[in-house]
Amino acid sequence: MHRILIVEDEPEIREMLRFILEPEGFHIGEADNAQDARRLLSRQIYDLILMDWMLPGRSGLELTRELKRKTPVNSPPVIMLTAKADESDKILGLDSGADDYITKPFSPREMLARIKAVIRRSGGDDFEAPVEFAGLGIDPAHHTACIDDTPLHLSPAEYRLLYFFMAHPNRAYARRQILDHVWGDEVCVDERTVDVHIRRLRKLLTPSGHHQFIQTVRGVGYRFTPSPLNH
Ligand code: CA
Repeated sequence: MHRILIVEDEPEIREMLRFILEPEGFHIGEADNAQDARRLLSRQIYDLILMDWMLPGRSGLELTRELKRKTPVNSPPVIMLTAKADESDKILGLDSGADDYITKPFSPREMLARIKAVIRRSGGDDFEAPVEFAGLGIDPAHHTACIDDTPLHLSPAEYRLLYFFMAHPNRAYARRQILDHVWGDEVCVDERTVDVHIRRLRKLLTPSGHHQFIQTVRGVGYRFTPSPLNH
């Protein structure tokens, strides 16, 4: 499940993007200005931002610069959307830290291809493909996890937590972010729930040594750091 934040002040374009992206299985967040975008980004993890250049108030270009400067660790990749086809503007957009650039009007197919390419590039997050680190494997298409072909018996929450980590390796996440992503924003659960599940997951992974992949990041939260196992 990938979440895309659309930051665009024209309702028709937001609606069109939603129309293209939702059938592809993307979850969509929408903001029509920079302030709302920042608020949503503080509450939810997004895998990509589609950022309109010209927004009322703070521009999409300025917001992109700010995000890349202030949150370099977990800032999602940005695709700039703009009517400006000018080459110098394109360079300015990429200089701001945007990962790609799409000029309006765009074709739905090109848009989808670019989005998938940027998400893939941004963190080994591949679509429904099995992921494996040192014998610890997860198969999102079948909702199964295993260690060296031996099935791991996980609760649904433990499975989602492990999948989240394996799909986003080497990045530190706050408990709140993990909670929002794994438990969903509609559920009101305590941040300690994350610690409880991490403890259970570590326990399950201890016999094989994979528990060492789940690292506590002091003052932040947790990070999944796969490495060769030392037995
Ligand atoms: Ca606009």
